[in-house]
Amino acid sequence: MKLANRTKKTSNSGLDEIFAASGPGVISFAGGYPDQQLFPKQELEKAFSSSFQSSNSNLLQYNSSLGYLPLRDKLAQRLQDDGIVVNADSIMLTQGAQQGIDLAARLLLDKGDGIVVEAPTYLGALAAFDVYEPTYYEVSMDNDGMNIEALRKVLMSHQVKMIYTVPDFQNPTGTVMSLEKRKALIKLANDYDVVILEDGPYRNLRYKGESLPPIKHFDTQGRVIFLGSFSKILAPGLRLGWLTAGPELFSGLVALKGGSDVESSNLTMASVNVYLEENDLDEHIATVRSTYKRRKDVMIESLQHFLPSGVSYTNPDGGFFLWLTMPAGFDSTEFLKNNLIPNKVSFVPSANLMPSKKLKNAARLSFSNVSEEDIRSGIQTMSQLLSAKLIS
Ligand code: PMP
Repeated sequence: MKLANRTKKTSNSGLDEIFAASGPGVISFAGGYPDQQLFPKQELEKAFSSSFQSSNSNLLQYNSSLGYLPLRDKLAQRLQDDGIVVNADSIMLTQGAQQGIDLAARLLLDKGDGIVVEAPTYLGALAAFDVYEPTYYEVSMDNDGMNIEALRKVLMSHQVKMIYTVPDFQNPTGTVMSLEKRKALIKLANDYDVVILEDGPYRNLRYKGESLPPIKHFDTQGRVIFLGSFSKILAPGLRLGWLTAGPELFSGLVALKGGSDVESSNLTMASVNVYLEENDLDEHIATVRSTYKRRKDVMIESLQHFLPSGVSYTNPDGGFFLWLTMPAGFDSTEFLKNNLIPNKVSFVPSANLMPSKKLKNAARLSFSNVSEEDIRSGIQTMSQLLSAKLIS
C-alpha cells in the first residue's frame, strides 16, 4: 500500500525489537513505565463510579475542547503554586503529555523547519516530530541541562522554530536544567523568536532538594508551551495531561485539538476531578516518590558496587531514569543484542534516543518498574557482562 511519505522516517525503528525481547523472565531496565502497584486503583474506581452515578447526562455528551472546567480550575491552582501564571481558561486538558507534543509540532512545524532537541532526548517526542518532517538540530546534554553555548551556535546559524526540552529529570539522562540555564534559554528564545516546548511529566517526582521554577515561569512573551501529565503521578491509562501557553499559541493548539479528537473523555476528566476532591493528591505523590526513591538508591548502590571502572552514571534527584556512559568506542546496541538480552537483562541504547543515532556508548536505565531485588541482580549481571566485554 502507498503510505504517506511523512510516515517513512521513524525514530522508533529497532526499539520494538528491544521491547519484544524484554518479555517474561527478563529484568527490563528499558521501559519507562510507572509501577502499577502504585496506582490508586480503589480510589479511582470509586471516583469513576460516583462521577458516573451523580452525573446528569452531561458527562456523556460532547462538551468543549478545553476540557472539564472544574478540573482545569484545580490544575490552574496547582500550576500557580508551581510558579506559572495561569487561569482555567488558559489550560487545555489533553490525552497525556504525548498529545501536547504532537499538537505543538503540528502547530509549528512545516516540512524542513528547524527544531532543536536535546541529545539524547525522549524517544516518543521524536516519534511525534518525525511525522512533520522537521530538520533536527541536536544539542548535547551537560549534567545541568542542555549545553547553552552549543544551542546559541545553532540559533545563530540556522532557522529554528521550536526548542523541545525536558528540564526536570530529563528522559533519558535524569538531569535537571540549572536555574541559570533556564534563564539563558528563555533569553535566547526571545532573542531568536523561537517557541519553547517544555515537557514536565516528572516535575513532581523529586526525591531530593528543592524544585526550580519551570521555564514557563520566566516567560514574559507567551512563547513557552508547558506540558504536564497525570501519567506518572496517578496512572498513564487515564490518558490525561494538560498544557498551557500564551494566547496566540494556545488558541492554535485548542483548534488543532478539536480537529484531532474533539476533546478528551469527559467521563475520565470528571472522574479525576472527583478523585482530587476526595483524596489528597500530594499525599499520594509522596507515597509514590518514596518507592521510586528507594529503587533509585538501590540502583545507585548496585552500580557503585558492581560496575567496572571506566563506566560512569548519573545520579538523578528525581524521575525514572539514569544514564550510563561506557568508554568511547563501546557500542551499547550491540552489547544489548549480543550480551544483555541473551542473559535476560535489557536497557535502551543511546543511539535510539537521538535523530542522528550518533552517540553509541551510552544507555538509559529505568528503575521505576523493577523490584529492588531485580535491580540488584540485573545490575550485577549487566556489570559482569560489561566487565567481560571491556576486558576482551
Ligand atoms: N514526555 C516525556 C518526557 C515522557 O517520558 C513521557 C512518557 N514516557 C511522555 C511525555 C508521555 O506521557 P503521557 O503518558 O503523559 O502522554
